[in-house]
Amino acid sequence: MAEIIKINENTYRIEDGEVRFLLFCGTEKAALIDTGMNTHDAKEIAEGLTDLPIILINTHADPDHISGNSAFDEFYMNPAEEGNYREHGGKGKIIPILEGDEIDLGERNLRIIEIPGHTPGSVAILDEKNRILVSGDTVQDGRIFMFGERRNMEQFIDSLRHLKEFEGQYDDIYSMHGSFPVKPDLIDRLIDGATEIQNGTAEGSTVNLFGMDVCYYKFPYAGFLCDKV
Ligand SMILES: [Zn+2]
Repeated sequence: MAEIIKINENTYRIEDGEVRFLLFCGTEKAALIDTGMNTHDAKEIAEGLTDLPIILINTHADPDHISGNSAFDEFYMNPAEEGNYREHGGKGKIIPILEGDEIDLGERNLRIIEIPGHTPGSVAILDEKNRILVSGDTVQDGRIFMFGERRNMEQFIDSLRHLKEFEGQYDDIYSMHGSFPVKPDLIDRLIDGATEIQNGTAEGSTVNLFGMDVCYYKFPYAGFLCDKV
């Protein structure tokens, strides 16, 4: 059962077990950001919170972020994510969002920042007026999935650096897993950890996840689950 938490008059987070999704309301439109893992009724939940027309933006298309997508005929997603989306049975029309694109909700402008690495078409969303960065799964203090297909640690590190180019523009980071919110200095720590993994200097342990052996790198600030080397 999803838990709805009101952050302020125009902003909600919906906790769906291990994952969350968000509702950002402007004066003319509301944006649902992701649709959770077990929340086929994500759109209905949003309709219960606002009378505004609701659009959907996906940060990426891993299965824990798209469970309620089928209630939308069309939605915003980076085109590089289409393979991941369709492979997980995703339907509907993708309206492409690219670096620098802006979606205006009415007195609330959302700017798209491409952050490939966790998945090829992951995006962050900068809510300029409210100084919030929505980071999807890329910046978070839980366990970051970097094993299996379509992950790219080098791109992941580049994307974290890219987010730092905007660092004067956000005070809080809203991620889809882990603590809520997290602070921008987490980005530096994640760059350090990911770089250690990339260089082979980080110490990992084997854990079994979904019947698969993966390598778990546990840092004080977050964990990374990677393919076994
Ligand atoms: Zn996720």
